[in-house]
Amino acid sequence: MADCLFCKIIAKEIPSNIVYEDERCLAFRDIEPQAPVHVLIIPKEHIASALQLNEGNADIVAHIFIVAAHIARQEGIADGGFRLVNNCGVDGGQTVGHLHFHLLGGRNLGWPPG
Ligand code: AMP
Ligand code: ZN
Repeated sequence: MADCLFCKIIAKEIPSNIVYEDERCLAFRDIEPQAPVHVLIIPKEHIASALQLNEGNADIVAHIFIVAAHIARQEGIADGGFRLVNNCGVDGGQTVGHLHFHLLGGRNLGWPPG
């Protein structure tokens, strides 16, 4: 989608530090990491937010969870534990309008968040 930051990262028009890629999703390091490991996992299909998920496109979410576990092992945070977060909408803290999941780990993460 034109004018979408993450679509431009998928198209490699904007550089990113990629840690995993397959035909359906891309994972790259967050530019402003909030934990020792902070990776964003995004579908290659432009989906604006979790509100746009439906029975026809939601398979990607299961795929992203499987990829997240793979990256957690790759990054050495699987045993210590990690958090997989989706921010949706203004109150949820979503700032980029392309569905993404934050994979955070490498330190003890507080709860409740923000
Ligand atoms: P959210 O606030 O949930 O929408 O998350 C958007 C995330 O994208 C933030 O954590 C930003 O630090 C991150 N971000 C923004 N621009 C870039 C970029 N060019 N490369 C990597 N991460 C980015
Ligand atoms: Zn997009």
